[in-house]
Amino acid sequence: MSKDLVQENMNSRDIRHNWTLEEVLGLYNIPFNDLIFKSHSMLRKYQDPNSIKLSTLCNIKQAGCPEDCKFCNQSAHYNKQIEKKAFIGVENTVKAAKQAKAKGATRFCMVAAWRGVHDKYMPELIESVKAVKALGMETCLSAGFLKEHHAKQLKEAGLEYYNHNIETSEDFYSQICTTHKFSDRLATVRYVTEAGIENCVGGIIGMGETIEDRLKMLIILANLPKHPKSVPLNRIVRLPNTPAKDMEGSDDIDFVRIVAVARIMMPKSFIRFSAGRRQTSQSVQVLCYFAGINSIHFGEDLLTSPNQLPEKDAELFKKLGATTC
Ligand code: SF4
Repeated sequence: MSKDLVQENMNSRDIRHNWTLEEVLGLYNIPFNDLIFKSHSMLRKYQDPNSIKLSTLCNIKQAGCPEDCKFCNQSAHYNKQIEKKAFIGVENTVKAAKQAKAKGATRFCMVAAWRGVHDKYMPELIESVKAVKALGMETCLSAGFLKEHHAKQLKEAGLEYYNHNIETSEDFYSQICTTHKFSDRLATVRYVTEAGIENCVGGIIGMGETIEDRLKMLIILANLPKHPKSVPLNRIVRLPNTPAKDMEGSDDIDFVRIVAVARIMMPKSFIRFSAGRRQTSQSVQVLCYFAGINSIHFGEDLLTSPNQLPEKDAELFKKLGATTC
């Protein structure tokens, strides 16, 4: 067998879309050292293990969202203290992108607290995507539900990524949101895929869901026809004035296990540690990088809550000999 064919066969065994709960539970429960050895091997096989992708978030429309996602302080149902801000427009978006680029970000994620994208905002969103791309940055948009034609228009504008997290398993979804269904989320993921935009889809750990719920979420992502290019994994941040303040959170080792399983199931994806790094010790963060994290949200804040300070990240990367991209 030729060398290329051997490599192709090896890859086809690693890049799979037919995971079962029984199998993934078995993987999750193997001894910790065996699990992170396996996941780190996968990281080394498909990615640069010393390179971290930096992505910066920018709130282009803040708060007042009609949905009732229990973890979110931009929901109009819970938090009246977060100032409501209208869409900031193209000029301010580009200004924020330039600042993020100057600080080292290579991907700029524009986030709007909308239920979904409204037709009237499409011209300015398209212009923003084009202008941020012209700065030489990768573009990502997170603006709620997309209609099929919006996805096509955004693709034509050059949008590279659309973020729309599924958050948790289908079974647990009604416990965290009642104003829309899990299937609505999946429809947007499908439109994004069909338009040829890369999906950025992940979820949150620590909302009271079971280990099985966490694994079922990963199974949905890994069994999509194409693995999401980015998989943000968040640890719940107990935001005041939201039901999240009483959520139980996640054990450090359980979180690292989820990272490791995600890396094994989606070897070529950016597995991103998003919210919750500030509340996670440096040593556990290092374990997460070893287990398979190769991307973070970088910057002083995560929309409406503080993030780990960029100086602290830079200091850690220096100690680890890691480069950023
Ligand atoms: S749809 Fe998005 S912005 Fe709106 S409440 Fe849910 S998570 Fe927050």
